[in-house]
Amino acid sequence: MRFSVRRLAPGELDHELIWLSASILSLGFAGVWLTIGLPWPRCVFHELTRLPCVTCGMTRCGIQFFHGHFLAALQWNPLVFAILCGVIAFDAYALATVIGRTARLRINVSTQRAKTFLRVSVICALVLNWAYLLLHWRNF
Ligand SMILES: [Zn+2]
Repeated sequence: MRFSVRRLAPGELDHELIWLSASILSLGFAGVWLTIGLPWPRCVFHELTRLPCVTCGMTRCGIQFFHGHFLAALQWNPLVFAILCGVIAFDAYALATVIGRTARLRINVSTQRAKTFLRVSVICALVLNWAYLLLHWRNF
């Protein structure tokens, strides 16, 4: 895994602008959805088994997170909480680089070992999160 900091080449995809825009649009969409009282997403797995799936509590986690109730957000879904923290950090970085037209951070995952490490890390995070949710299934 290699990290590099460089300016965008002419015609190169501006990931910071794209993902910052997607993040802001998604947040706006979710805010409008909840504000006008549209129904919350239903979990088919939970309705069939009465047990939480790996993403159960995501909506409540997001609501608590954006109301500044971070401990409550963490308790609803630790993985989603961590992802939201990562998105906020990325958005701050992306906003600074897009406005400042500064160099961009690029991560190159080139070795098979690094790719395997990332895959195993993601799977472990999902399993640990699901185990946490299953241990706290009465909240759902
Ligand atoms: Zn679910």
